[in-house]
Amino acid sequence: MALLDKFAAADNLKAQLSAVGHDPTQVVIDKIITATEGLVEGRHTILAGTNNYLGLTFDTACIEAGKQAIETQGTGTTGSRMANGSFAAHKALEQDLANFFGVPYGMVFSTGYAANLGTLTALLKPGDAVLLDADAHASLYDGCQMSGADIFRFRHNDTASLEKRLQRLGERAADCLIVTEGLYSVMGDCAPLPEIVELKKRYGAWLLVDEAHSLGVYGDSGCGVAEAQGVMQDVDFFVGTFSKSLGAMGGFCTSRHPQLELIRYVSRPFIFTASSSPSIVASTHEALRQLQARPELRKNLWRNAHQLYRGLHDSGFEVGPEISPVVAVRLGKKEVALPFWNYLLENGIYTNLMAPPASPDQHSYVRCSVSAAHTAQQVERIIQVFCEAKEKL
Ligand code: PMP
Repeated sequence: MALLDKFAAADNLKAQLSAVGHDPTQVVIDKIITATEGLVEGRHTILAGTNNYLGLTFDTACIEAGKQAIETQGTGTTGSRMANGSFAAHKALEQDLANFFGVPYGMVFSTGYAANLGTLTALLKPGDAVLLDADAHASLYDGCQMSGADIFRFRHNDTASLEKRLQRLGERAADCLIVTEGLYSVMGDCAPLPEIVELKKRYGAWLLVDEAHSLGVYGDSGCGVAEAQGVMQDVDFFVGTFSKSLGAMGGFCTSRHPQLELIRYVSRPFIFTASSSPSIVASTHEALRQLQARPELRKNLWRNAHQLYRGLHDSGFEVGPEISPVVAVRLGKKEVALPFWNYLLENGIYTNLMAPPASPDQHSYVRCSVSAAHTAQQVERIIQVFCEAKEKL
């Protein structure tokens, strides 16, 4: 009995979430119409919480590349690269990702989660010290934890807090790893990378930046926040995912350090899982080309980000600290946020609910993310339904 008793808390949470209406963790999109629209329970719904930043999931060139790869290479690789061999397409994508970041080495993983587990567990060992931003994604936490290294959390985006921890580490600071994201997906704010780089250099530490949400979004070439803030050459390891602006699934690590190539020999999340299927590798590779060839995608994304942020802000909503494609609206108590999120869904707007303990503080949020593929009318409709919800609830 005891083995299964521990699910009582989850059962309780499920009941709480379902009591108000829809359970936010169980939404089914019956039909995907476009990158920004779907059918939920027969209702035409604007998808405003997908992280599909460049809207490339329905891009004709990406779809064609995926189709061709299935036809010529089959539906799957049926095993890990260590055991079954790499397909040439995995190697080509790795090389192009490295070129894109302006570094010699690149490595592809089956998911972004695996990229973080695989990189961090290979880089860190028990006895090492890692300094981790408190709002870092679960995959960064899990990777650090699995490595057995000593984890020291610093306050989110707070370089004074980071420096305090570096000071306390004494001599160990000289070889520790600092782990941060570029754009944080919780509140849509960016890391202060130049200040973090200054500390890294002063103490002789290493720096890993997760650009999962910033790839294709920030920087003149779309490399991410490190590019936008002019510190790419000071980052030791870039990690990220294919599941957001590249519209597919998978993850990567790129680096100027040749030891990245050796991670292949020791990284269990790389070795003991099947490699990405040909269609995924092909559509991701095409999306990487589109990202570089079509800067207008980024321009449209930012136009929509400004429209949504300004529209919600000017309607009296409490939004995050800076304009970005991730717009989190603070609603206070879960008892307020849950009906609010339900109202949006029932009126054709799909967003993400963030409630404690999954939110960064004691507050609950409804989070939107915009896409380059949203039209101005869709963004306007999102703002309008938010205002209706505020009036009615
Ligand atoms: N890093 C960050 C910052 C993320 O937000 C996510 C996913 N939300 C991941 C890594 C994991 O990526 P994936 O979904 O490709 O596993």
